[in-house]
Amino acid sequence: MAGLEGKRAIVTGASRGIGAATARALEDAGATVVTGSRRDGTLDVRDPESCRRFVDSALERLGGLEILVNNAGLSRGRDPVWDSLEEDEREVVETNVLGLMRMTRLCVPHLVESGAGHIVNLGSVAGIWSYPSGSSYVASKFAVHGYTRALRDDLQGKPVRITNVAPGLVETDFSLVRFKGDAERADAVYSDVAMGGPLHAEDVADSIMFALTRAPHVNVDEIVLTALAQVSGGNILRES
Ligand code: NAP
Repeated sequence: MAGLEGKRAIVTGASRGIGAATARALEDAGATVVTGSRRDGTLDVRDPESCRRFVDSALERLGGLEILVNNAGLSRGRDPVWDSLEEDEREVVETNVLGLMRMTRLCVPHLVESGAGHIVNLGSVAGIWSYPSGSSYVASKFAVHGYTRALRDDLQGKPVRITNVAPGLVETDFSLVRFKGDAERADAVYSDVAMGGPLHAEDVADSIMFALTRAPHVNVDEIVLTALAQVSGGNILRES
């Protein structure tokens, strides 16, 4: 795909999964991309100082910023609310909500200055429909969806487009992280999804690229994409 030549982008959480696929797609389209994650030692969105350092260094390298993809995120645990752990809830909310807000706050002045900014937030169908035993993740993604709407209000009149991308089930390491390394439990989430299986990271990257490559006066507010077998957050047709 072409069309983003000369654009400068930050993608958070691009060490794997949707973030890595998005960074690749951006580069293929001609953008210059700086990525950050804990694994590569560049960015922890939970840490304000790490975010400040990362944004300063990215801006020094890029010389400006047109695109921010707020992708870093996770879920921890799959328990009913009364069994949910305080440390899991904190990690999820601090990463998915406070981390995303912090990165946005730090990047907005540069996106405005560029004259053609675009923020893409990774929401989820969990930010539209709740499902059992996912309360902290559901709460965090409802917050992302609300924050994205609030951004549209605050940035009205400024040259920054804002898109919320809300995928359903995507086969990545997401479930391995949620189940704290239990590969059997994680694999079971994806293995028997009917009608062609779950989404892939590239499917989500493709939707992000669609939003980024519309005409400058077009703001794609939200994209909800699910596997054919998934009709809502908790309603997934399985083969068995
Ligand atoms: P993934 O494969 O586990 O990737 C998550 C990425 O986030 C990793 O690169 C990880 O890197 C990074 N990350 C986590 N905590 C971070 C932190 N504190 N600071 C910086 N980076 C951090 O999961 P994914 O499926 O690609 O998820 C990406 C986004 O899509 C998330 O926001 C997720 O909620 C959303 N989403 C996923 C699905 C799905 O079914 N997979 C569905 C809807 C929405 P490090 O561990 O190296 O830091």
